[in-house]
Amino acid sequence: MSAIDDLAGELAKLPGIGRKTALRLTYHLLKQPRERSVRLAHALETLAERVHPCPVCYNLTEDEECGICRDPRRDAGVICAVEEAADIGAIERAGEFRGHFHVLGGRISPLDGVGPEDLTVAALERRVAGGAVKEVIVATNPSVEGEATALYLQQVLVPLGVRVTRIARGLPVGGDLEYADGITIAQALSARREMA
Ligand code: ZN
Repeated sequence: MSAIDDLAGELAKLPGIGRKTALRLTYHLLKQPRERSVRLAHALETLAERVHPCPVCYNLTEDEECGICRDPRRDAGVICAVEEAADIGAIERAGEFRGHFHVLGGRISPLDGVGPEDLTVAALERRVAGGAVKEVIVATNPSVEGEATALYLQQVLVPLGVRVTRIARGLPVGGDLEYADGITIAQALSARREMA
């Protein structure tokens, strides 16, 4: 396989990049000064080496534990469960939430073969079972899979004696939390409802 095919093949695996775009990006890089490609390669290598999931909440971090878990001013009694680490950024930008997070690593989707065991649900159950958590706010996306995930979390967490709430439906159905504006997220959080 040629170097061009090799890179184009890797780029085409990224979300939103088809084979055609992958080839266009590859040829674009070849037209640039060589140092730019070297810098890109170095940035990718550094990213892969340094960034890892926080062992507590699965947020992405370069430290041993993420900044949110280490922040003593945040309320460890409230955990906001999100699908992806990128959702944390969206909620943080809204500036309303001062609790902790839990990144599930996706959503339950039987059609795609994704079950609870493929997510970090067991780790969330352990955090809740630890006893210090009073409320879990389920902030999965307002999609069919996001709702199914929310229902599953309700079923496994409520028996542990924790309050389980769901963010309100201010978010567009089928929308993505990551791209929602701060006001919408803040409203969805404050109008959250009981799941049990
Ligand atoms: Zn963390």
